[in-house]
Amino acid sequence: MTRILHRQIHATLRTAVGGKGVELFDRDGRRYIDASGGAAVSCLGHGHPDVIAALHAQADALAYAHTSFFTSDVAEALAERLVADAPAGLDYVYFVSGGSEAVEAALKMARQYFVEVGQPQRARIIARRQSYHGNTLGALAAGGNAWRRAQFKPLLAETHHIDPCYAYRYREAGETEADYGLRAAQALEDKILELGPETVMAFVAEPVVGATAGAVPAVAGYFRRIREICDRYGVLLLLDEVMCGMGRTGTLHACEQDGVVPDLMTVAKGLGGGYQPIGATFLSGRIYEAFAKGSGLFQHGHTYICHPMACAAALAVQEVIARDRLLDNVQAMGAHLARRLGERFGNHPHVGDIRGRGLFMGVELVEDRGSKAAFDPARKLNARIKHAAMDRGLAVYPAGGTIDGIRGDHILLAPPFIIDAATVDTVVERLGEAVDAAIAQAA
Ligand code: PMP
Repeated sequence: MTRILHRQIHATLRTAVGGKGVELFDRDGRRYIDASGGAAVSCLGHGHPDVIAALHAQADALAYAHTSFFTSDVAEALAERLVADAPAGLDYVYFVSGGSEAVEAALKMARQYFVEVGQPQRARIIARRQSYHGNTLGALAAGGNAWRRAQFKPLLAETHHIDPCYAYRYREAGETEADYGLRAAQALEDKILELGPETVMAFVAEPVVGATAGAVPAVAGYFRRIREICDRYGVLLLLDEVMCGMGRTGTLHACEQDGVVPDLMTVAKGLGGGYQPIGATFLSGRIYEAFAKGSGLFQHGHTYICHPMACAAALAVQEVIARDRLLDNVQAMGAHLARRLGERFGNHPHVGDIRGRGLFMGVELVEDRGSKAAFDPARKLNARIKHAAMDRGLAVYPAGGTIDGIRGDHILLAPPFIIDAATVDTVVERLGEAVDAAIAQAA
């Protein structure tokens, strides 16, 4: 019996009572390797003593002060640190309570920027299919998941979607990756010209697509061309790194590997590592200056922006990542995970693609490798995999269903940055057993 409105009304959930390192424990004494960090959240794993100590200290000193009256040392320190490590030009940051709020704030920054600089006709968003940017109305408008959007459509801001850069599904036979990247990016220019450049405010994309497609990075060159196109037409580039950012792909920000700097960038999950709810929107000096010279304020705000407890958690998480050189481990363990997945699933008759970057990997399941046909959704393969994995002491993030006409089941792996090689081996072993058991059940 639960009095909570859970996402699935009739779901029976196990009760988590503890966690230590890469493991979670339930009330019945079962242990689970948290191989997706929830949804790419728990980058330091669970029960990290340094983060807990920082939270205690912050609670003792100051839990909350409203930003209309005060700033706080901890929020200022976090901002200094994040801006110092951000791609050059992202000189300011805005703290919120999660990913959707970060995207929502970024969209409002884009809109207000154009009002401030005298281009109020720019209000349209261009985004991509098979993407997820959050569940508040602005973020949902940007997201390209038709199923999630369907019933809320009358409430959503005007957004136009183009195909993502998703080589496994969209690259044509005989097309090189470079040519495919340019063709995929061309869809943005075509859409801008179709709508009229003077009406478009922002292009929104995840550098590595997370929840809807399963860790799909763009091919090399795609985002550089996207950046050129945005510059050519004065459109702001908003990169959503809520899932793929803050070290998950082996560099602090995923866009570093694509060689581009956005005008706006959102981060969340790994920022606070799950120890507190926190998200952030980075903005360029140009956008900040437009607000400063114009109305003098960003017309937005929530009660919990810059929350000291959330900032303390994020600061501690980021200090531990740097001190313990954990991005080196993300790179090393990411390569190890990719190798092990390749060995276990490379010739699997129902695995079509293995992709990702760092400790952010996706495995796409197909009924038939030749045609890339997906499993019938009625067979509920992804739900079966989730349960089969949990029965084997493994928590992974499977998703599936029809997303904008592309159907598929995939598994997302995003373990804590502290994972070691032996645990990676156990993850892949248990996942292999779970996938085979689930496919046999779904037959
Ligand atoms: N953007 C991306 C890329 C995400 O993956 C998510 C969450 N899965 C969000 C935004 C929304 O974040 P939140 O659930 O914290 O609101």
